[in-house]
Amino acid sequence: MKIYNSFSRKAEEFEPVEKGKVYLYVCGLTPYDHAHLGHARTYISMDTIKRYLMHKGYKVLHTQNITDIEDKIFKRSRETGISPLELSEKFQNEALEEFDRLRILRADNYPKVSENIPEIIEMIKKIIENGHAYETGTGVYFSVSSFPGYGKLSGQKLDEINRGSRCAVDETKKDPADFALWKKGEDVLTFESPWGKGRPGWHIECSAMSMKYTDGRTLDIHGGGRDLIFPHHENEIAQAEAALKTPFSKCWMHTGFLTVNGEKMSKSLGNFITLKDLLGKYPPYALRLFFLHSHYRSPVDYSEENISAAQTTAERMFNFQEKADELPGSGGAENTELRKKLQDEADGFYAAMDNDFDTPSALSHMFGIMTECFSEMRKPEPDYPAIAEAKEDFGKMMWILGLEKEKKKVSPEKKKEIDSLVQEREKARGEKNFNLSDEIRDKLSEMGVVLEDTDKGPKWKLK
Ligand code: AMP
Ligand code: ZN
Repeated sequence: MKIYNSFSRKAEEFEPVEKGKVYLYVCGLTPYDHAHLGHARTYISMDTIKRYLMHKGYKVLHTQNITDIEDKIFKRSRETGISPLELSEKFQNEALEEFDRLRILRADNYPKVSENIPEIIEMIKKIIENGHAYETGTGVYFSVSSFPGYGKLSGQKLDEINRGSRCAVDETKKDPADFALWKKGEDVLTFESPWGKGRPGWHIECSAMSMKYTDGRTLDIHGGGRDLIFPHHENEIAQAEAALKTPFSKCWMHTGFLTVNGEKMSKSLGNFITLKDLLGKYPPYALRLFFLHSHYRSPVDYSEENISAAQTTAERMFNFQEKADELPGSGGAENTELRKKLQDEADGFYAAMDNDFDTPSALSHMFGIMTECFSEMRKPEPDYPAIAEAKEDFGKMMWILGLEKEKKKVSPEKKKEIDSLVQEREKARGEKNFNLSDEIRDKLSEMGVVLEDTDKGPKWKLK
């Protein structure tokens, strides 16, 4: 399996540090507002990657931080009077529920900055001890000139970074590009430290919290949106490697932006559409497939037309699965022409995924499977076992891509009502009162219930 590594700028054969195990770290949200579609772009991409690794048998340990201590959260907290931790918890929980609907598998750990201050302080101490940071009246700063590899991820030279440094230059810093590990001073929320009251800088949290779960071992994959390459990921590398003296991550993966008229969707630009709004308008699978139509590293421009088209396509895919479910026969597929074609398509799907998670090409092979099977179904004597086998493969591919119909929730009252109607219909059938049983079936159908009479009695589901 080849993965494009932003660090080496080429596709490399993937080999985790430890056979069969993948330590995956993905930079998480700064939850000071509702999550938007741009966030979904990154997390759906990383989820598809994670699912494929799981499908290949890797045990994936996924950590994703929550930046609950940060300027934007503090600013919102001052504006609303809500404490920063309460505010971030509210938006983080809301986002997680939306991500659940998008079938984004939950991470194993969601460390928060506010709960990892001792770990962060420990790492800062090590960086100072190793001669890569210094204290001034305003904070503790990482000395970029002391770290020879600074710029190795983003490919920038230190003097260019210094010249381009946009932040207001703090006179106490040695180099304009030196960045804060600890910010001294009072704020909405502060913590005690060996350098006085204050709070950590933004970047240190990811170095400290990712290493907490690997016990200081190199990560296999570190991911996030491409805006994070510089300075965030560059700084994460510098901090972790300056503290631990081991390589920070083997592979760096960066997702392409969701753009609006070519510009990155972001809260600060005000061109964002919240997931809350979109999920009120489209089923989650439409948004997921909309992204899967593009490679994870490519930019995707926001288009409601394309989201609607993705909805129709996803529904065709579900329809194929349902139709194939109704057919007889599984097992005993012979090496027919059709079976060979279907296997070629399945091989094509996995080859595409092995080629840096090329989902657009992987999808084209799924559509190939559907076309072959639908045309076979129209024949007088379809090759049922071959279709059944393809359906199994197709189901696995749908899982990898996280494409799943949303299960409709039934309230306990509605469930009770449906169950009692189903029982009434059974009674009517037992008494051969078919007029009444048909009437009840029609009523259930109007309520959106599909009834199926099986050997074990009637079963029902919502349309
Ligand atoms: P934030 O909460 O802004 O720190 O972002 C959390 C994650 O979402 C980061 O990995 C960002 O790179 C990613 N992200 C934010 N906006 C976009 C976007 N428009 N397209 C793709 N990824 C994004
Ligand atoms: Zn990070």
